Amino acid sequence: MNPNVDRPEDTRWRGSDELELILGPEDAAFRDEVRAFIDENLPADTRRRVENEKVLSKSDHVRWQKILHEKGWIAPGWPVEYGGTGWSPLRRHILDEELGLAPTPRIIPFGLSMVGPVIMEFGDADQKARYLPRILASDDWWCQGYSEPGAGSDLASLRTRAVADGDDYIVNGQKTWTTLAQYADMIFCLVRTATEGKPQEGISFLLIDMTSPGVTVRPIVTIDGGREVNEVFLEDVRVPQANRVGEENKGWTYAKFLLGHERTNIAEIGQSKRELARVEAIAAREMSGGRPLIEDPAFRLKLAAAEVDLMALESIVLRVIGEESAGHAPGPEASLIKIKGTEVQQCLTELMIEAIGPYAAPFVPEALEDGWNEAPIGPDHAAAVAPRYFNWRKASIYGGSNEIQRNIIAKSVLGLR
Ligand SMILES: Cc1cc2nc3c(=O)[nH]c(=O)nc-3n(C[C@H](O)[C@H](O)[C@H](O)COP(=O)(O)OP(=O)(O)OC[C@H]3O[C@@H](n4cnc5c(N)ncnc54)[C@H](O)[C@@H]3O)c2cc1C
Repeated sequence: MNPNVDRPEDTRWRGSDELELILGPEDAAFRDEVRAFIDENLPADTRRRVENEKVLSKSDHVRWQKILHEKGWIAPGWPVEYGGTGWSPLRRHILDEELGLAPTPRIIPFGLSMVGPVIMEFGDADQKARYLPRILASDDWWCQGYSEPGAGSDLASLRTRAVADGDDYIVNGQKTWTTLAQYADMIFCLVRTATEGKPQEGISFLLIDMTSPGVTVRPIVTIDGGREVNEVFLEDVRVPQANRVGEENKGWTYAKFLLGHERTNIAEIGQSKRELARVEAIAAREMSGGRPLIEDPAFRLKLAAAEVDLMALESIVLRVIGEESAGHAPGPEASLIKIKGTEVQQCLTELMIEAIGPYAAPFVPEALEDGWNEAPIGPDHAAAVAPRYFNWRKASIYGGSNEIQRNIIAKSVLGLR
């Protein structure tokens, strides 16, 4: 495949072994401006924590998001009237990529990339005025209440009930795998408001204040020892009907609109390029058979394969961006990007494990806490590798599992039943 075909004009690859796009002069100047801004404005303590793979706090995220907001760069994809930038999709990609390449905290997507666009598209004037500015300023932390025990891939079978009571709904049920709900001020939930007809037809989209009586958050400790996901219990929670987005029983339409956004965001090209550089740096320091591992032909082959995959992924993302510029929304490409993006992410964690060998075995989760200063077991760079490897098994599950994405491709691209 010629990687320079079908991309936005003015982009092509630099050389054969450097994963960097060559941009036209204006976009290149913009990229330099982004790099300089990150360099000057990323708080030093946050930078250090990201570089050392430490667990980040809520304030690491919020502080950085507020800095980007002040610059006007926090929601480049939003329409200008709501605080977006009006940039071309290529500029948005450049910002995304630079944010991923640099040691910055990941932008939390639940408000900015998920519920924000849903409120813009389907919310009423009051909801827009109330929530959008607070999402933009990171004043509210949102979480996503879709999945339930027994309703993940088969989301339409969700059972959390919302029963009308005067101007309110009374909500009862349980959400699960709710990412970072422990920090959240608000949760957007799919709830069942009707039981007749097809399951998809009885679902509504509710915005729920996490401080409402009856909301309980319980942690699920993940295999790497992390606290990232939760169960959220809803017991007789009173939610104003004014917090329903759009029409009653039409929530499935809004939910699907949101999932398209979720999947294209998962590619995280810049982040994977940073991880690739990390694998290379580790392999340059680890020895194998009396020479640096990076010189081992078998390892180099695997590294090259990962790099080619990443390059191909970026090519697809740029093609989708090119089509977006021409006004076409992403279709099944979103599924392809989700599968390939997460496969690359997981492959890089596997290569890191391979590079550090037996030092991957000791399990010391405390080493990832800020302020831990015991002597490391093995080289400094080893502590985060195994937890990261285990943590990233999640990537092929969340955002709609990769098997489900393959089903989507089979049906919508290959026409299989
Ligand atoms: C780290 C993490 C964070 C998450 N964060 C959130 C969040 O913030 N909010 C939220 O709402 N949800 C979240 N989720 C939930 C996520 O969306 C679900 O885990 C996912 O949709 C899969 O559902 P499930 O876990 O119920 O697995 P199941 O649906 O039970 O699937 C089990 C296995 O069967 C396979 N499978 C199921 N159906 C089919 C089929 N038809 N064809 C082929 N294979 C199939 C799946 O691929 C999977 O391998 C998160 C999950 C993880 C792991």
